[in-house]
Amino acid sequence: MRPLIRLAVSLSIAGAATVAHAQSNAPAERPTTTFPYTPGLDVASMDKSADPCVDFYQYACGGWMKNNPVPADQARWSVYSKLTQDNQRYLWGILDGLAAQHAGRNVNQQKIGDYFASCMDEKAIEQRGAAPLAPYLAQIAAMRSNRDLPRVLARLHMDFGDDAFFFGFDSSQDFKDSTRVIAFASGGGIGLPDRDSYLKTDAKSVDVRTKYVAHIAQTFVLLGETPEQAARGAAKVMEIETALANASLSRVDKRDPYKLLHKVNAKGLQALTPGFDWQAYLGELGQSKLNNFNVTEPAFFKQLASLLAANDVAAVQTYLRWHVARNMAPALSKNFDNAHFDFFSKTLRGVEQQPPRWKRCVRMVDQQLGEALGQEFVSRAFSPQLKEKSLHMTRQVEEAMAKDIDSLDWMSADTKKRAQQKLKAIVNKIGYPDQWRDYGAYTVKADDYAGNVVRGNIFEVKRHLAKIGKPLDRKEWGMTPPTVNAYFNPQMNDINFPAGVLQPPLFDPKMDDAPNYGNTGGTIGHELTHAFDDEGRQFDANGNLKDWWTRRDAKAFEERAQCIVDQYAQYTVVDDIKINSKLTLGEDVADLGGLILGWMAWQTEMASMPQQAKPALRDGLSPEQRFFVGNAQWACENDRPENLRVKALTDPHSPGRFRVNGLVVNMPEFQKAFQCKAGQPMVAEKRCRVW
Ligand SMILES: [Zn+2]
Repeated sequence: MRPLIRLAVSLSIAGAATVAHAQSNAPAERPTTTFPYTPGLDVASMDKSADPCVDFYQYACGGWMKNNPVPADQARWSVYSKLTQDNQRYLWGILDGLAAQHAGRNVNQQKIGDYFASCMDEKAIEQRGAAPLAPYLAQIAAMRSNRDLPRVLARLHMDFGDDAFFFGFDSSQDFKDSTRVIAFASGGGIGLPDRDSYLKTDAKSVDVRTKYVAHIAQTFVLLGETPEQAARGAAKVMEIETALANASLSRVDKRDPYKLLHKVNAKGLQALTPGFDWQAYLGELGQSKLNNFNVTEPAFFKQLASLLAANDVAAVQTYLRWHVARNMAPALSKNFDNAHFDFFSKTLRGVEQQPPRWKRCVRMVDQQLGEALGQEFVSRAFSPQLKEKSLHMTRQVEEAMAKDIDSLDWMSADTKKRAQQKLKAIVNKIGYPDQWRDYGAYTVKADDYAGNVVRGNIFEVKRHLAKIGKPLDRKEWGMTPPTVNAYFNPQMNDINFPAGVLQPPLFDPKMDDAPNYGNTGGTIGHELTHAFDDEGRQFDANGNLKDWWTRRDAKAFEERAQCIVDQYAQYTVVDDIKINSKLTLGEDVADLGGLILGWMAWQTEMASMPQQAKPALRDGLSPEQRFFVGNAQWACENDRPENLRVKALTDPHSPGRFRVNGLVVNMPEFQKAFQCKAGQPMVAEKRCRVW
């Protein structure tokens, strides 16, 4: 299930999880009721035989990489994935109990317990086979011409919340007035991970496309078509998706909010797509009065209109049938589910086997009822003291940023003043929302998994559309509390740290300060720096897309950012594929800024300590060395080559090795801590620094 594209450009520390996390088929896997403890700085994760001045990532993470091969059910494995697995196993314990309990559950406990039970009931899912597809296939089959498309598509968007059905339709904050929520129509319509998946001509990309077409055909056979019909249909789907991919913006272009800003009224929207009746579409969504839209990619919608004119209804029906089956496959019987896994996880990302059922079900509860599940998680795993500690560190990092801005020699006083205003306006959200989501309108049944999935989609789509024209809800969160990740939202101008990311080994109250400031302090600094990266800097203190820079300061910023672009363009992701450093620029800038701010905050904390409390040598490492090792150890990872190829196209984050080595080469404090000499690999000849 893919949610409709989220247009608020949220910028997170880690890439989106692609498949569920954790070891599968481990003997006697059981849910837990306690958290396993992993220390915030783990000496066993280091490789002390490596020279920190030659390859610091190997030195800090070599042991981890050796001891943590990618599990069979994973595309990649990292410190973040491992903590995600710990959280999931803990949530499994909660859900297992609630699924078995029938009396005494509150409303939310009933929903998450019954959802989990329905998802775990493989026998019932198997018995229903492909039956959950039937009503959708019937609606598609009843289409008489492409004039019927708008109504059918609106119902599919409502029930699946998926922008792979021709395009995305959602609500989002107006770029120019962040207090207003308006409708957004955006590009989409493809099943492969990126537009470039259709356009690249190297042998591996061509091979993936061939296998994709074969998978589509296989799905049509499962739907009862002859192999000949199925092959023709699959070729048609590929033709339509390729045309849509061709008309889509690249991910680098989508990082420029001005390229996504095209406001139109209902007439203007209709003019883009003659032949597609928007009134019929909006009416079916219950939104017929809308007259204010942002169309992110007008060229895409023009292409859509010509595609619909050039293809008969049979072609459109074929395309829709594929996407219905693709979307629902993971909630259907094994023949659909396994075929879906074989292409989207095994072929595309190198995953060897399906994650165990419990893990998939925990993930789905988190996805569809995350704030109900989150309440259970937070009440057990996130104390007020932990919240207070996190807030203390956040404020210190913010004070560091204020000092840092003041000290910049490349920025004028005017721009500094506005940067400080923006920094002051940033809202800190720590742990969980002040106000929990009300799932009252979402009916969950213990014996209807596919129905629960669809009703959850509908709940979410309606919740998003209901925001249009209403005052902005500033309390809303874009991640669930158990999530091991964090983000900055430039239009909300807030930083968000779910309870799940404020746990050991990332944030470890039992550990000395140095690794905590290196790790979580660095993460807080990372999110804060996003407010001032190449994308975030274009939004002002109120979250509006508005240029608050003098021309000279903007130019000085761009020169410094270019240093980072040039640096990361040298690094290899996999095979001969280099980092697309224009795509990763925001994250690379945030990583470096985060480390600098974490360091500054740590210095402040140490200065406030009485002399006898000052840190000493520990595990044979000086406090300064512990800061840098602690920072690096958030990023330890192993990755499958297939997945790396997908990430090279889609992930705005650089691989872990460069999220560590790419930073320390620019840090004189690092070179001093490890006594690295000029000319060594971890000492850049020309240092980059933006913030
Ligand atoms: Zn980030």
